[in-house]
Amino acid sequence: MWIKASGTLLADALTRDIFVPVDLPAMQIAIQERHPRADQPAEFCLSGTLRPSIETSLHAVFAQRVVVHVHCVNTLAIVIRSDAPAILADKLKGFNWAFVPYVKPGARLAALVSNVLEPNTDVVLLGNHGLIVAADTVDAANTLLMRVIAALNAPIRTLLNPDLQALAVRATPDFISLRIDHPTHQVALYPDLTAAAEVGSLYPDHVIFLGVAVTVLQADETPEEAVARRSRSGLTPPILMLVPGAGALIRSDATPSALALAQCLGDVLLRLPERAPVQIITAEQNAELLDWDAEKYRQALNVS
Ligand SMILES: [Zn+2]
Repeated sequence: MWIKASGTLLADALTRDIFVPVDLPAMQIAIQERHPRADQPAEFCLSGTLRPSIETSLHAVFAQRVVVHVHCVNTLAIVIRSDAPAILADKLKGFNWAFVPYVKPGARLAALVSNVLEPNTDVVLLGNHGLIVAADTVDAANTLLMRVIAALNAPIRTLLNPDLQALAVRATPDFISLRIDHPTHQVALYPDLTAAAEVGSLYPDHVIFLGVAVTVLQADETPEEAVARRSRSGLTPPILMLVPGAGALIRSDATPSALALAQCLGDVLLRLPERAPVQIITAEQNAELLDWDAEKYRQALNVS
């Protein structure tokens, strides 16, 4: 099986070697036997120096020849809800789909996906995580992906105007305002979205690239004081900060991946209807994500 390498961008697929070959039958056996090796995809690598995706096992459980796994915005806006199965049942009529509640990405998740697959299942939704589609050709997989994304499409909320003057007062050399049309300002402008972002993390990549949840700047608190407050709670320093009623600040040295995940938060939450019940990743699940060696490697590649 050819799988995208960890820390590479699918967008580069036509100009760089970003795929690595892995021993598919050996990995399938490891997943079935619940062997710890199944969470070490590098052990199944057949050649090359790049490491296979930490989600290799997730692709290995499908019978179809092409497996596409994405953390798409339309999907996330639904699978972060505790009522996701009912919403999906309504929107995915006519698809052969299945839903798997959140567990840490890796071999345990792959085994749970394998358990729900029927012979004709080609769409799998992952709670607080994303979407998988499978087909026997790239074209068919792409067509199916686009059909699912269209079926899950939700209208975005009315865009409010960030208060850039108020943001400028709170900004520092370390924490600067996002650009005026950035979707994540909206999370600070809608109180229910601010609350949803502050209460916890909604999907794993947020935890990996932005840290646990989002820090909300209190009245009269400086970003430095908010950093200190967060570090007293044992969390990593914040990268994104919300100023209620004004907009969002981001660390001036944020990595491209952190910037992408900052945008993702706004894109996802703008699609969340008012009063939708949100389900967060628990403190234990956050810790499980942040202690993960494979993720450390991906973060290191991202920094370099
Ligand atoms: Zn994933």
